[in-house]
Amino acid sequence: MIAKGPRVRFAPAPTGSLHVGGARTALFNYLFARKLGGALILRSEDTDSARSSLESEKVIQDDLRWLGLAWDEGPDIGGPYAPYRQTDRRERYALAAARLMEIGRAYPCYCTPEELDAARKAAETQGLPPRYPGTCRDLTAEQRTEREREGRKPALRFPVPSRDIYVEDLIRGSVHFPANTIGDFVIVKSEGLPTYNLAAVVDDAEMEISHVIRGDEHLPNTPRQVLLYEALELPPPLFAHVSMILAPDHQKLSKRHGATAVAEYRAQGYLPEALINYLALLGWSPGDDREFFSLADLVDAFSLERVGKSPAVFDHAKLRWFNAHYVRRLPDVERIQLIADWAGQSPIVAALPTFNDREWRRLLDQALTEHIHELSDVPRDASALFAQDVEPEASMADALADPAARRLVEDLAAQAEAAKSDAAVWSAAVTREAILALGARHGLKGRALFRPIRAAVTGSEHGHELPLLLALLGPRLVARRIRQSLAREDRPRSA
Ligand code: GLU
Repeated sequence: MIAKGPRVRFAPAPTGSLHVGGARTALFNYLFARKLGGALILRSEDTDSARSSLESEKVIQDDLRWLGLAWDEGPDIGGPYAPYRQTDRRERYALAAARLMEIGRAYPCYCTPEELDAARKAAETQGLPPRYPGTCRDLTAEQRTEREREGRKPALRFPVPSRDIYVEDLIRGSVHFPANTIGDFVIVKSEGLPTYNLAAVVDDAEMEISHVIRGDEHLPNTPRQVLLYEALELPPPLFAHVSMILAPDHQKLSKRHGATAVAEYRAQGYLPEALINYLALLGWSPGDDREFFSLADLVDAFSLERVGKSPAVFDHAKLRWFNAHYVRRLPDVERIQLIADWAGQSPIVAALPTFNDREWRRLLDQALTEHIHELSDVPRDASALFAQDVEPEASMADALADPAARRLVEDLAAQAEAAKSDAAVWSAAVTREAILALGARHGLKGRALFRPIRAAVTGSEHGHELPLLLALLGPRLVARRIRQSLAREDRPRSA
């Protein structure tokens, strides 16, 4: 027999898009499988028929692919344990349910949602845990027939034995669930579909999943699943529950804390490398002070032993910082193209005569990449940079008061007006040396030279290096802005 590595699965419910928590679960499963030469299975848990859709299944797959997390078996590619979509596996759950009925480990429950609600409230007022009181557990055959006659459609419940249950978890150790804390739980809903607990157990067993690595919101489900494995005489997998991701305010991470969907980050111009690197460090640590990991590095370094028990806190600023790092590290050609693509979303920028010029695009990248965190900032930053008109900052109001300063920028405007629009020629005309030489002609240097030019060209004290800025703006815009500033200067000041 061929020895095989571990089999793990990522089993999202296709009820929306992929969230960062899900992405991290997928990533840890991926890393575990790749590290140990095992297989990653993608399974669509779509038994919530009202909320599931094939469209969402596809969206989740696209997001996983974008992150670079490839799976070995799944609803889209099939595999030896197909099908991988739970609604296509219904007869398997029905068989398991029938088997449990047969051996007396399941019973029909006729309680209506209203009755269950009333029982829950009654328990609450008595200060008891809100578990199912066992109303239908010991119904006689006659009582069942009577309820069927009333037209009630039963759900199936699993009778939970009253004994302590221990879940051995690879991350949390032995987790104790005391006797009588878990009520008889539903395994088949009244409309005939299995619940998550039954479907997950049947599938994990049939798909020979060796390790279940998932978010710890499923820890309370695990004793129920353990009981089902026992009753069905199926070998249970090993469990590893990863702590949840909290928002900085230590509440559950949700929409009100900002973007939570992978697709939102993608749309904001995050690179998959940044998200992967950041998500890996949410809960896992390499044990040394390394911070940067490619997916391949992570496969090398990952182990479940180094996944922590305490919740991880989502730090947006850190993710932005990773993104800035990965944007800067892209190969030049790729980054230049990416920056131009994003900048081109600004109509002002896309309309520039230099927009397709290679040298100009190189300068644009140089100017924008330095400050960038999210690529979605680029169109806005670029629009501001290339605006036709600029308003001077208050602190620059006096920058052109000196006649020498005015003559200096006049001279620059005249040069710009005489210049051709060719980006390469113009950038050669506005090098640092050229600006110093221009200043020298007007007896100006240092701050007295640079400040008036900045005032006239952008109106602000700070900004990109002057040669880069002038080269990028091009002669037309430089001339236009200087003329405007001078005109403003000539206007009588209102008191
Ligand atoms: N469908 C479940 C979810 O999306 C999967 C839970 C599990 O991994 O067992 O949370």
